[in-house]
Amino acid sequence: MNVVASPRSRTRLAAASFALAAASALIASPRAASAFCRTTTVPVVADFQPSTTKCWDQGVPLFWRNSCVGYSVQKSASRQVAFEDAANGISRAFTKWTGASCPTEGTGRSRVSIDVRDLGPVDCGEVNYNQNGANQNVIVFRDATWPHSDSNNTLALTTVTFNPETGEIYDADMEVNTHDQRVTLTDPVPPDGYDFASIVTHETGHFLGLAHSGDNRATMFANYTPGATAMRNLTADDVAGVCSVYRPDGARAVLNGKVTPGPQCDPTPRRGYTGDCAEPAKKSCGGSSQVAASNAAALGSPGWMALGLALAGVLALRRSRR
Ligand SMILES: [Zn+2]
Repeated sequence: MNVVASPRSRTRLAAASFALAAASALIASPRAASAFCRTTTVPVVADFQPSTTKCWDQGVPLFWRNSCVGYSVQKSASRQVAFEDAANGISRAFTKWTGASCPTEGTGRSRVSIDVRDLGPVDCGEVNYNQNGANQNVIVFRDATWPHSDSNNTLALTTVTFNPETGEIYDADMEVNTHDQRVTLTDPVPPDGYDFASIVTHETGHFLGLAHSGDNRATMFANYTPGATAMRNLTADDVAGVCSVYRPDGARAVLNGKVTPGPQCDPTPRRGYTGDCAEPAKKSCGGSSQVAASNAAALGSPGWMALGLALAGVLALRRSRR
């Protein structure tokens, strides 16, 4: 059975941890032998590990409703990765997912029903969702500092903001840890290198709502082995995952049955698009969930209480232990 799940580590909800209709009935798929998991509205407990037969089964699975989603790369990119290389690599990574071919089940349509669009470079590098104005789903490199824990072992992190009742994703932001990690764009990848294409293919899976898979061959497996490039290419498990959420017929697998997205491709972020940050400079450009939540609380914005925020996608390094 396929149940939904959050990644095994470091998933946290914002301070506004409203009471959810937790432990709800989850999507049961008739497909067997898939290990993929979906991120949900309820954070996983710290010691949970997905397996080939078990996902985190609390909460509502996340999904993008619209048939198109926009994203933006922060324009200064990284000392390690020039903007053009970043934009090209991320585009290729998304295309792995959006080009996935699913079982047709007699309908004749096989491609997943989600597309992404690069909306161009943005100034803003904040992980944030502005409930009262325009937004961007930003992909940002952290050269100066890594504003999250376990920097030595973390390659990247994707944060997703969602409606805790429906699981609909409102915003997703991706951070790549170029402060403590040396990513490589070369091919072949050196034995101790961290392949940028692998990292962003994994993270774009989180961006689309997938969690870590228990299948250690999958792109969505939680750990990256230095020098490896396998995560660049989706496995059958990854394809099964994206196909289960963004079905070729356009429907979304959600909490109670399915939801059909709007027929049109509109990649505009929720509440409009902007290349600038929503608010004047905050002290921390990092914007952890706690920062976002406390800022929201300070602003007295009751709407925030209706949002969930998950640090949905750590890609960790797999290090050999002595
Ligand atoms: Zn991950």
